[in-house]
Amino acid sequence: MIHINNLHKEFNGHEVLKGISENVEKGEVVVIIGPSGSGKSTFLRCLNRLEEPSEGTVVFEEKDITDKNSDINKIRENMGMVFQGFNLFPHKTVIENITLAPIKVKGLTRAEAEKKAYSLLEKVGLSEKANVYPSSLSGGQKQRIAIARALAMEPDVMLFDEPTSALDPEMVGEVLNVMKDLAKEGMTMVVVTHEMGFAREVGDRILFMDDGKILEEGKPADIFSNPKNARTKDFLSKVL
Ligand code: ADP
Ligand code: MG
Repeated sequence: MIHINNLHKEFNGHEVLKGISENVEKGEVVVIIGPSGSGKSTFLRCLNRLEEPSEGTVVFEEKDITDKNSDINKIRENMGMVFQGFNLFPHKTVIENITLAPIKVKGLTRAEAEKKAYSLLEKVGLSEKANVYPSSLSGGQKQRIAIARALAMEPDVMLFDEPTSALDPEMVGEVLNVMKDLAKEGMTMVVVTHEMGFAREVGDRILFMDDGKILEEGKPADIFSNPKNARTKDFLSKVL
């Protein structure tokens, strides 16, 4: 589904991605782990061109998203993204947050969009919150709404950048559970997280990133139980 070839990114002459080549298969859950500042967010943001790669290509569903002539907005419709911060529109209700893009971008009628939104709210366990404003929600609830909003566009892949890092500990589980359900349904997912339990249980493949490179990758059981790279070992010894 996604082919990444020789991806480089520099900011002001400082190279933060130093040549990454990876493939993400349809239905796969790829979990990216690694120390802070290693380039995980930059990598994820290059996948939907929130960052412009300095070199290399990203081909998503046969379309080269790094090609200046490609319609990036159209491509992004198929790539849902959930960030650490919740990014909900504060002056819109939950249901408005979820239906806005499907109506504006996909051309759904309000009734169609709301029907879909209610089923998504049910999926994330927040049916009763349809008409409240984001400010009245807990962090965990906001993040579940952010996931529902991304899903409303019926993306083919979901990108998650530390979706639980800003949450109080007691709310982490409810968000991870929604993500687990998504993975079970076969959603293709690329997830940056420090939640090693989730990575081990839900990940099909773990990528360990350090200093702008993927130093090691493999099945969770192998990476967590038998890391080969010294830097992976060191990182895991600190977080496990
Ligand atoms: P991670 O998500 O693994 O913590 P990031 O991708 O956020 O790492 O950052 C990797 C490196 O790139 C860091 O040194 C960071 O300071 C730098 N960086 C990220 N975004 C920018 C930016 N917009 N401008 C300049 N430097 C940036
Ligand atoms: Mg980051």
